[in-house]
Parts: sequence; C-alpha cells; structure tokens
Amino acid sequence: MDKKIAVVTGASRGIGQAIAAELVEAGYFVVASATSEAGVEKIKTTLGENGSAFILNLADKESCVVFNASVGKLGPVAVLVNNAGNTKDMLMLRMKDEDWDDVIETNLSGTFRVTKGFLKGMMKQRIGRIINISSVVGTMGNPGQANYCASKAGVEGFTRSLAYEIGSRNITVNAVAPGFIATDMTDELTEDQKNAMMANIPLGRYGNSKEVAKAVSFLASDDAAYITGQVLHVNGGLNMG
Ligand code: NAP
Repeated sequence: MDKKIAVVTGASRGIGQAIAAELVEAGYFVVASATSEAGVEKIKTTLGENGSAFILNLADKESCVVFNASVGKLGPVAVLVNNAGNTKDMLMLRMKDEDWDDVIETNLSGTFRVTKGFLKGMMKQRIGRIINISSVVGTMGNPGQANYCASKAGVEGFTRSLAYEIGSRNITVNAVAPGFIATDMTDELTEDQKNAMMANIPLGRYGNSKEVAKAVSFLASDDAAYITGQVLHVNGGLNMG
C-alpha cells in the first residue's frame, strides 16, 4: 500500500464519520469500525477505494483483538483515532452497575485495548500519532453522566501518561475534547439539558462534526509534530482554561 494507514474507531456516523472523511482528504487510507455489518458496509461505501472497515465492539476484549489483527494485516498504522464511544446517562442514585461498567469498558478500557494492540507496530516505525476523543465534560463534569465523565477524564489521564512513555519513539499522543456537537449522541439529551448547555456557549451555537474533524486532522499532521500530551478543546467557549 502506498498510502499511510489511519485508523478511526466508530466512523459509521457522527464525529467519526467526519474524521474519516477529513483523513481521506489528507491522503490517508482510512480503516474504520462500526458495531454492525450494516455500519461496516456503510463505511465501505462512503470511503470507496480510500479505505476499509471492520466490526469492533470496544466493550468486548475478543472483538478488540480481532479488530487489531484485521487492521494489522493491511500494514503499519501511522495514525490512530480512538473516537468510538457511548453514553448510558442516569443520576448516580439510580445508575445501574452494568451501565457504569459498559461506559467505562467502551470509552476507557476499549481505548486502552485498541491502542495497546497497535503500539508495538507504531514504536517499531518510530513515528506515529494517537488522538483520543474525550469530551468537555471530562473536565467540567455533568449531572447524569458520572460514568461518561469518569471515562473521559480517564481518557485524558491515559493520554498524558502514554505521551510520556512513547515520546522518545517520536509518537505523539493527544486528546480532542469536543463540546456540544450535533450528532445522534447529543440528540438523546433532553430539551432542558440542551438549553442549559446552549446558555453557556459564548459562540451561541452547537458545533458540527467537521469542526472536530479539522482539529483531529491538524494533530495528525506534520504541523503538530511538537504537540503531545495535550487536550485540544473544541467547544465554542463552553469551557475555557
Ligand atoms: P455517535 O453519533 O453516537 O456515534 C458513535 C460511534 O461510536 C458510532 O460509530 C458507533 O458505532 C460507535 N460505537 C458505539 N458504541 C461502540 C462500542 N461499544 N464499540 C465500538 N464502537 C462503538 O457519537 P458522536 O457524537 O459522533 O461521538 C463520537 C465521540 O465523540 C465519542 O467518543 C463521544 O464521547 C465524543 N463526544 C461527542 C460529543 C457530542 O457532542 N456529540 C461531545 C463530546 C465528545 P455504531 O454506529 O455501529 O453504533
């Protein structure tokens, strides 16, 4: 393969779909994931000859192993974007153990597993970019999202620790923390939750997936070679500093 490979998890819709498109634009062969065959087919149709896709369920250890192996057969990975994530919102008092576990397993442990699977290969190449999609609420917290906020704060700690560990191999590790981006995920919020968010966004609008994808594409580029261990916020001013 003459193109470099970029992996994007969860690219069947929303932010991941926009990131995949942006990385194709930047000249990568994009290997993406969805949780269903229908999602995989959708990605393959969208990417055409510029990419491929496989099934991945981040909460399932075996699925992560199979995904890593399938991608590994295509060649070394230059860019890894850990984008896939889910929410299972509920106030703490009523949050079920399985909803806590599922969100932590998917967003945090899944990110650990998929990254670990590609790490040796990247270290051998002595070049690479890892970009983890966090969330503004990993910093701010949010009522009803204790599991999700904990997972994203964990992703940011993971990002910084790994940046220390593999900086000497010329691999940068950063996070992008979107604010309120209009996707299926935010569609699930109640009108009250949406209005409360909007009242605190200085730019006075929700963001869109492409605006997040542009930040990811920048961190993947040569222009970002000296940036590592950082969290880049794309949130319209919802949270500053
Ligand atoms: P989305 O529209 O709900 O899409 C989620 C993507 O993740 C889909 O491709 C989905 O695959 C995949 N996915 C879900 N559960 C998975 C699992 N267990 N294993 C593997 N893949 C799984 O979400 P989004 O809004 O684009 O969010 C993308 C990322 O940005 C997430 O990490 C999210 O936490 C973060 N984020 C979003 C916002 C926002 O406002 N939208 C804000 C901050 C952070 P299927 O299509 O097959 O289900």
